Order: sequence, then C-alpha cells, then structure tokens
Amino acid sequence: MHQFKSHIDKLRFSGLRPTKQRLNICKILFNRKETFHFTIEKLKKIMEKNSNKKISMGTLYNTVHVFEKKGYLKEIALKGNKKYFDTNTEKHHHFYDEDTRQLIDIKKENISVNNLPNTPEGKKIKDIEITIRVENNNQKQKK
Ligand SMILES: [Zn+2]
Repeated sequence: MHQFKSHIDKLRFSGLRPTKQRLNICKILFNRKETFHFTIEKLKKIMEKNSNKKISMGTLYNTVHVFEKKGYLKEIALKGNKKYFDTNTEKHHHFYDEDTRQLIDIKKENISVNNLPNTPEGKKIKDIEITIRVENNNQKQKK
C-alpha cells in the first residue's frame, strides 16, 4: 500500500488523474530495483501482457511525457527514430547493444571526458551523455 501512495502522489504532482491504468504504468516503471530502459512500444507490450487488456498509445505517450517533464523519467538521446526513456534520472552514460537493442547503464564516474571543444557562441554545455554502441564479438567464429 505504501508504494501505491507514492504512485498516486507522482500522478497527482504531474497533474494526472490516478486511474487504474496509470497506476499500472507506474508499477511497471517504478516498482523495480534495476534501471528500466524502454520505448513506448515496449511499455505497451508489457502492459498488455500483464493485464490482458489493450491500452492506447495516447495514454502511454501522455503519461510518459508528463513524467519526463516532471523529472521522474529521463529521455535518452539515441540515434534513430525510437525514443528511449530511462527510470534512472541521475547523470549517466550507456552501452547500447545493437544486437538486442538494450541499453545498459554506465556510471558517470566510469567515463571521463577531456578536451571539450568551445561551445557555439552564447551556449553552454548542459549535459554530456555518451552512448557506446556494442555488437556481438564474432571474432571466434571467423577462423
Ligand atoms: Zn540508463
């Protein structure tokens, strides 16, 4: 019941009515120990599998984007047209596995960035987010 209240609070703070569907979204996003990286499509699949009910993309988009604005989720900048979101809102970097399309967190302190270029005039660096793309190492098979 305890965590339930915090989900309701999150929704209320975000100006969203705590409907059953939105509470289910919260459970999937925030009731976990590990970071959760997801696209809206993936979230939809998980939701529908769990509840056996259809859920509209609109509801998902809306809830996720409002959470992102409120800082409960972070959007990850990735090449390509799929938007990924992250329940880890701390500054950190990622491995992106091109074979499985999974993101894996890298702690901020595990990468150091030197030699930064001057920013364009009138601009300052807001954030540096590094994505290291990885693929299966098939060297062993190439004998
Ligand atoms: Zn992450």
